[in-house]
Amino acid sequence: MIYDAAVIGAGVVGCAVARELSRWDLKILVLEKELDVATGNSSRNTGMLHAGFTYKNGSLKAECAVEGNQEFDLVAAELSVPFKRTGKLVVGFTDHDRENILKFRENGERNGVKGIRMLETREEIEAIEPYAGGNFAMYVPSSGILDPMQYTIALAENAAENGASFLFGAGVASIDRPGDGDLWILHTEKGDFSSRWVINCAGAFSPMVSAMLGYPEYYQKGFKGEYYVLDKKAGKYLSIPVYPAPNDKGGFATHATPTVDGNILVGPDSYLTEGREDYANRRDRLDSLFKEGSIMFHQMKRDYFIRNFAGIRWKNCDEKTGEVLDFILEADPEKGRSVNLVGIESPGVTCALPLARRAVQKILDRQEKEGKPLSPNASFDPCRKVPRRFSEMTMEERKKAISENPDYGQIVCRCENVSRAEILRAIHNPLGVHTLTGIKNRTRSMMGRCNGGYCQTRITKMLEEELGLAPEDIRYQRENGVIFTGKVRGEA
Ligand SMILES: Cc1cc2nc3c(=O)[nH]c(=O)nc-3n(C[C@H](O)[C@H](O)[C@H](O)COP(=O)(O)OP(=O)(O)OC[C@H]3O[C@@H](n4cnc5c(N)ncnc54)[C@H](O)[C@@H]3O)c2cc1C
Repeated sequence: MIYDAAVIGAGVVGCAVARELSRWDLKILVLEKELDVATGNSSRNTGMLHAGFTYKNGSLKAECAVEGNQEFDLVAAELSVPFKRTGKLVVGFTDHDRENILKFRENGERNGVKGIRMLETREEIEAIEPYAGGNFAMYVPSSGILDPMQYTIALAENAAENGASFLFGAGVASIDRPGDGDLWILHTEKGDFSSRWVINCAGAFSPMVSAMLGYPEYYQKGFKGEYYVLDKKAGKYLSIPVYPAPNDKGGFATHATPTVDGNILVGPDSYLTEGREDYANRRDRLDSLFKEGSIMFHQMKRDYFIRNFAGIRWKNCDEKTGEVLDFILEADPEKGRSVNLVGIESPGVTCALPLARRAVQKILDRQEKEGKPLSPNASFDPCRKVPRRFSEMTMEERKKAISENPDYGQIVCRCENVSRAEILRAIHNPLGVHTLTGIKNRTRSMMGRCNGGYCQTRITKMLEEELGLAPEDIRYQRENGVIFTGKVRGEA
């Protein structure tokens, strides 16, 4: 089959591009090297819907962040994803902090961020959040929090419901355009695929895919950041993200952010790494993260730790000066029908849909110019319909759900109150993902305090029964994430 558009990478950007492409009458294929969406940095971030006050005026980052922020109430409603417009506190202690905060306030107002105001006293801060640090603060009402995994899954599922196909375990190793013609051939471990358009959304590997398409292999630096996830018991002490004053280069150190599910994230710090997927946590880094986190959030306690993770912001940089540059979004007619997105670091979650619309606009423009305009997908539906989580239902709703489907009456994950009905729905998800983290990210099972100690074996059994998988075929997250290698006591 010849596809009209092949998207490389199923992070938040690739899934947003697939969703925006599915508004048009196109055969769309998303190729992802891992076994699910959002396994790269799209699941390794703070989940802030940024307001857009930090980014350089006139940059693509600033333009897309403000646009992405302003539209998100509608987007969250369409895709049925959790979202809270919490606002944000940027707190300071010294005159120097105040100078830097005021620079951001001015920049934010220039970028079109509305409602920013200063809180001059500790009392004013405490009226918003008693456990936040700081002697004074900038309050930004339009900032919000979302679950970046749920958001990416929702974008992908909505794209799939509107006709896009997803293929996992299909890393693009090389790309040809025979005779500089109309068709791209993408070579993957799952075979070769032909497509008229190719869109590079490969995240950390976007410079390499850029080179495969004939664009430069853009220079980047990797800024790694580590996190602590705190138990929901700590969640009641923080209702709003608390960030320290920016440093002189405009960067933020460790902050404390509530999640939409009631946990708290502390982090990220920032240090350079060379490894494109160097996601391991480091003891020394976690120790300093604890100290820095305690300055922002006064209830930081080791008792609350559940787990850690890390992500890497791959920033486009000037090779000589090291200056951080803007996102790259280009479509050079000399390079065939391709759209190249490189260096989509923070605030890439906030910017995903605005970037996707701009990427698709480049395709529409070129098709129009060639006298082959695209037709809308007449059956496109922007809304994803998902039932409410059992844990969020009222008693009455629970009774009704159980009477209609007894699987709601069996709780598989006790920490997060996830029912058998929800696990079954996740096992039969529209993208055909069947890793354990796939079930975890779709339901929140295995995310609680016991880290899956209680429910993981039950979910594994359900995967075997529902999909006819042998235990050895079940993966945790990646292809090499084998859980069972054989029997311990011979044949059962
Ligand atoms: C520590 C940290 C904190 C952040 N905080 C925020 C925040 O609070 N708010 C915000 O808006 N943004 C934040 N961001 C930025 C945001 O996470 C990223 O901008 C966004 O996730 C990038 O999405 P992506 O789809 O471009 O990349 P990714 O999520 O990395 O996805 C790229 C995908 O491409 C796949 N891939 C790569 N190469 C190939 C290939 N050859 N073939 C097939 N597939 C391939 C990868 O497996 C991956 O799934 C943060 C980032 C970090 C690291």
